[in-house]
Amino acid sequence: MLSEDFATNVGLAAGAVESLRGKTIVVKYGGNAMTSPALSKGFCEDVATLQTLGIRVVVVHGGGPQINAMLEKVGVESRFEGGMRVSSPEVVAVAEMVLCGSVNKGISSGICSAGGNAIGISGRDADVLQCTKLLNDKGYDLGNVGKVEQVNTQFLENLLDNGITPVVAPIGTGMDEEKDLAYNCNADVAAGRIAGELKAARVLFLTDIAGVLDKEMSLLKELTISDVNSLIDDDTITGGMIPKVTYATDAVQLGVNSAFITDGRVPHALLKEILGGGDSGLGSGEGGTVITL
Ligand code: ADP
Ligand code: MG
Repeated sequence: MLSEDFATNVGLAAGAVESLRGKTIVVKYGGNAMTSPALSKGFCEDVATLQTLGIRVVVVHGGGPQINAMLEKVGVESRFEGGMRVSSPEVVAVAEMVLCGSVNKGISSGICSAGGNAIGISGRDADVLQCTKLLNDKGYDLGNVGKVEQVNTQFLENLLDNGITPVVAPIGTGMDEEKDLAYNCNADVAAGRIAGELKAARVLFLTDIAGVLDKEMSLLKELTISDVNSLIDDDTITGGMIPKVTYATDAVQLGVNSAFITDGRVPHALLKEILGGGDSGLGSGEGGTVITL
């Protein structure tokens, strides 16, 4: 016997599908959601389900733990500054090998196994992520960390028009005389910029924490762009959360309706956030942080 909850949930999902059918959402896939086999299976199923419902999905993935493991194996050192990995040519080579190799193909094939249709590419394929060197305002040299200047949105749209989810590894290509150079992009930067350039309906960053927390570690459920800026200024937001919220707000400024920092430790977090809030555009409200203008 199906419960009344069932009817309520179907009603909510139907409202969300009605408002998102034919539109594009961009998901940054990273953190725990990527390292736990059960959570990652759930994620791939969610992407396949959204495709079935007529919602266009772009996946941009990270792979920090996998890169760290390989760097350790080959004896290359690396460190982080302001949430970004300082990237010597050796570090970029390992990151490219890991991200564009096993990590990328694991995700595209996982989505296909779940009944979806996905293709794995890197930002160097079809010039999807065209980069220049990211200059750090605090004065340290991050090496070959890319700032995404241009996105080949036409190529991504062509895949989406054909019912294919692009799974993008965040290694970018240099521009002009730097065409042969590979840039290591932070996956949050890549996801935010792709969402902004595609004018996606939503961008979601799956992470390993409940959302954006205040100094007392309480969840901040709704933030505007100016809230985010003050939280960075007063050091409430630090480390890996900085690129996430910075590029979430960048996407919102470029026309994305809402950006979500979502707890990827929750099974099926993607589906719950996208369909659980009905047609409000503000997500399920159950967890995570939503950033709007
Ligand atoms: P991801 O794999 O999602 O990119 P990161 O480690 O790069 O993970 O970024 C998420 C981390 O940012 C959190 O685990 C937390 O340690 C850190 N962080 C810093 N400031 C905050 C904040 N105000 N709220 C939540 N997390 C924060
Ligand atoms: Mg990160």
